[in-house]
Amino acid sequence: MKKVAIAVQDRGYRRMLEDKREDVLSGLGIKFDTLAKMGRVAEEDQAQVTHDEFVALRLNRLDYVQLRMIEEALDRLTSDDYGCCLACDQPIPAKRLNAIPWARYCVGCQESIGAEMDQERRQPVGVRE
Ligand SMILES: [Zn+2]
Repeated sequence: MKKVAIAVQDRGYRRMLEDKREDVLSGLGIKFDTLAKMGRVAEEDQAQVTHDEFVALRLNRLDYVQLRMIEEALDRLTSDDYGCCLACDQPIPAKRLNAIPWARYCVGCQESIGAEMDQERRQPVGVRE
């Protein structure tokens, strides 16, 4: 049953996930660049750099987490598990998958689990429903 519902849009979600993966990968490239530049600043700016570096590293870590979730979602598409909540096994509404194609949980389970990375983030303005 879940398979039928999702199969129709399978290609769309795969495309969205692959696009998002590209996005995250290029974002990581830019941040690594920024880090390299920060390594050349004068010594009196060190305190500031340390803070910026910390922020950049934290952003990178979140991007890596997201990247892994995107990879997992692509795996689930391949194995036909895509679109089902990993906690309650109910289908995740298409509306939610369109907003967060890498979502692992339905809204209810995400809220009780507190899966922060399943929340919408960095959506371009105007894309939200
Ligand atoms: Zn659920």
